[in-house]
Amino acid sequence: MSRQICLILLGPPGAGKGTQAEILVEEKGFLHISSGELFRRNLENETELGKKAGQYIDAGELVPDEITISMVENRIREIDSGTDFILDGFPRTLVQAKALKEILADYDPDVDEVVLYLHVPYSELIERLTGRLTCRAHGHVFHKKYNPPQEQGVCDYDGSELYQREDDQLETVKNRVDVYMEKTEPLIAYYRERGILLQVDAGQDVEGVASEIESKLEKKQW
Ligand code: ADP
Ligand code: AMP
Repeated sequence: MSRQICLILLGPPGAGKGTQAEILVEEKGFLHISSGELFRRNLENETELGKKAGQYIDAGELVPDEITISMVENRIREIDSGTDFILDGFPRTLVQAKALKEILADYDPDVDEVVLYLHVPYSELIERLTGRLTCRAHGHVFHKKYNPPQEQGVCDYDGSELYQREDDQLETVKNRVDVYMEKTEPLIAYYRERGILLQVDAGQDVEGVASEIESKLEKKQW
């Protein structure tokens, strides 16, 4: 029997993590866990967690590790044994990455941790993020130019409204990319040293990235 997989999608905001996660959900049956989506649900429902996280998200800063780690840990503990899952947007700091290793060891020591690093030239990110359209109900993503919905303003998957995320405005986007470079980029070396990093050229179109991911995942021996 193949082992349960925890697939970490690593890459800057706008690299295409959410987009590729949706494809992996459709085609391979992965469960998709996005830390950003978990925060947005909490914000919408005005929970205590949402209130604590809101100010950081609006400013394009990272939510403190302690809050983020416990939120994701609780979600991981709910996953049925044997279900392959994707972590999208977590971990984003070395503290989170080390905490995740312990959480997984505690959840099930046999889970395979694999990291897909989506590499994109920085010049592409601003246009991808400022043109992003997000679905109100489930966070499905589209792009005004690169991946428009069939009907303007409406999600192809569930018919809900598409909106522009507050933190996808130009000024916040620039800060999010700076924060990524300072806090998250060191994870590339961390995972490379652990021998579990697969790098993908995410500067291609959506289908090109998806097929490179598929072939890299197939070649990896679990
Ligand atoms: P992330 O989850 O890494 O922040 P998203 O998947 O939300 O990134 O993608 C950011 C924006 O870029 C979205 O509007 C999406 O439609 C678009 N996008 C994703 N992948 C590509 C691609 N390969 N080429 C062009 N645009 C893309
Ligand atoms: P995302 O949807 O991944 O772009 O995340 C949106 C925002 O949620 C980020 O800009 C952060 O403010 C917050 N966030 C998401 N994931 C994390 C994380 N792993 N650590 C800290 N903050 C996070």
